Amino acid sequence: MIQRATGLGEEVYQAIFARLMALRVPPGARITVDGLAREFNVSQTPVREALSRLESEGLVIKTHLVGYSAAPQISHRRFTELYELRLLLEPDAAAKAAATMTDTVLQELTEAAGMMSRAGGADERARYAQFAREDAAFHDKVLTVAGNEMIRETLAHQHTHFHIFRLMFHSRVTEEALGEHAAILDAFARRDPDEAARAMRAHIERSRDRLLPAFN
Ligand SMILES: [Zn+2]
Repeated sequence: MIQRATGLGEEVYQAIFARLMALRVPPGARITVDGLAREFNVSQTPVREALSRLESEGLVIKTHLVGYSAAPQISHRRFTELYELRLLLEPDAAAKAAATMTDTVLQELTEAAGMMSRAGGADERARYAQFAREDAAFHDKVLTVAGNEMIRETLAHQHTHFHIFRLMFHSRVTEEALGEHAAILDAFARRDPDEAARAMRAHIERSRDRLLPAFN
């Protein structure tokens, strides 16, 4: 149920986002504005706004005369290419970030690292959607700190994390990734570029290996 309190548009967006990320709306499934509006008991306007925002994030597709549908699942080939790209760019970015780390930035990265998701409360699928967003923010922030805006934009435009997390729902994905993020933060805290690169590489490789079974 959507509460009619503050930020109705944002709540509608978050509700649809969570369904897409946790595969409650499977890849390729039709999404009707009317159906969602009735289900959430809101007008069509916030639903349309949410869907166009999700379209800009690559999570839904709008087809002329057909309407909206959930984006198809990333292909195995695209997945492999994406991880090759991440492994080329992100360990190096982590090393650069470690070399210029300040206490303020370290604090910001720690807050972005998704550790809050470990706390209970929301159901497991809601936590999964939440972690997908925090993971995206954490990796984006490391790239920001590393200081190459073109690299950051290149990865941001792939909406990497949203596509990866939609491959399958598994609580292990969140639990293990949190531990790996902690190792990266630890290297940042020690201002150790080599260790930061190693921890980031290990995290990305493990993330890839955790999700590979989705293609079997
Ligand atoms: Zn991560």
